[in-house]
Amino acid sequence: IVELRGVNKWYDDFHVLRDINLSVGRGEKIVVCGPSGSGKSTAIRCINRLEQHQEGDIVVDGVELTSDVRSINAVRRKVGMVFQSFNLFPHLSVLDNLTLGPTLAQGEKKDEAEDRAAELLRRVRIPDQARKFPGQLSGGQQQRVAIARALMLRPQVMLFDEPTSALDPEMISEVLDVMTELAQAGMTMICVTHEMGFARRVADLVVFMDAGEVVEAASPDQFFGAPQSPRTQLFLNQVL
Ligand code: ATP
Ligand code: MG
Repeated sequence: IVELRGVNKWYDDFHVLRDINLSVGRGEKIVVCGPSGSGKSTAIRCINRLEQHQEGDIVVDGVELTSDVRSINAVRRKVGMVFQSFNLFPHLSVLDNLTLGPTLAQGEKKDEAEDRAAELLRRVRIPDQARKFPGQLSGGQQQRVAIARALMLRPQVMLFDEPTSALDPEMISEVLDVMTELAQAGMTMICVTHEMGFARRVADLVVFMDAGEVVEAASPDQFFGAPQSPRTQLFLNQVL
């Protein structure tokens, strides 16, 4: 459902993505890890055109990502994104954060959107927080609101960029639990994370990036049990 073929990107003369190839099937879960600055965020941001690649093809659910706004909008409708910094609208209640997109962009009726929002808040285990504002919630709760908000748009694929790395340790697992349930429900997911326990439990494929390249892509058993590249081994020694 997501294909990257020969994707290259430069920031001026800095070659940030080097010939990235990645094929994600429907329902597959990919974990992307690697050192700071290796291009992980840039790579996943290219998938919904928050960044623009210069060479190669990106295809999402049959739509090739080009500079055409129709292509960009079609791809963005299929892709949900959750960031490290939750990016909620601070002046809107949790409920309004969830219903704004569907009512405004998709013309959904407000009461229908609110019913779905309530359902999703149950699913991310904060059913009682709908009337609060983001600033009144813990980081872990805010991130679960962000996940629910992304799900409101019925994405085909969810992209996560270090969703737990801004959280206090005690809040990490409540977000990872929600992500694990989403994975078990069959969502296609590409997650940049250094939570290697999550990778081991949930990933179909672990991708290790370094210096703009995919150095290694393997099943969790292979990746953690018998990493092939010395660069992967070095990284694992640092994070495990
Ligand atoms: P981290 O683990 O710290 O989040 P990352 O793997 O996500 O790192 P990226 O954010 O993709 O790394 O950045 C890759 C490289 O591109 C870094 O060297 C970064 O400094 C550079 N870079 C990122 N954004 C820009 C930009 N807008 N202009 C120029 N260089 C950039
Ligand atoms: Mg990053």
